[in-house]
Amino acid sequence: VTDCLFCGIAAGEIAADVVRESDGVVAFRGVNPVAPTHILVIPRVHLASIQELEHEHAELLGEVFAVIDEIAAEETLSGGYRVVTNVGSDAGQSVHHLHWHLLGGRAMAWPPG
Ligand code: AMP
Repeated sequence: VTDCLFCGIAAGEIAADVVRESDGVVAFRGVNPVAPTHILVIPRVHLASIQELEHEHAELLGEVFAVIDEIAAEETLSGGYRVVTNVGSDAGQSVHHLHWHLLGGRAMAWPPG
């Protein structure tokens, strides 16, 4: 999608610190990390948020979580980690291309702010 930052990163048109990519997904480090490990995992296909997921995306979702699991192992997040996806303004979603935050490397508070 034109003017979508994460479509630009997925296409290689906008620079990012990519840690993993496959046919379906791209994972890269966030620019303003809020934890020692802060990686964003996105589908290449443009979806605004999980609200736009359909049954046809089942395989893609499997890939997303397999990639998260692989990255968590690479980043040695053996103490655990958190996976977050923000939807809409109440959640503070700022980029309207579906993404999951993989956060780790420090203890997390609950409930989130
Ligand atoms: P959200 O607030 O859930 O929409 O998350 C957007 C995330 O994208 C935040 O973690 C931002 O730091 C991150 N972000 C914004 N611009 C870029 C960029 N150019 N490269 C990498 N991460 C970015």
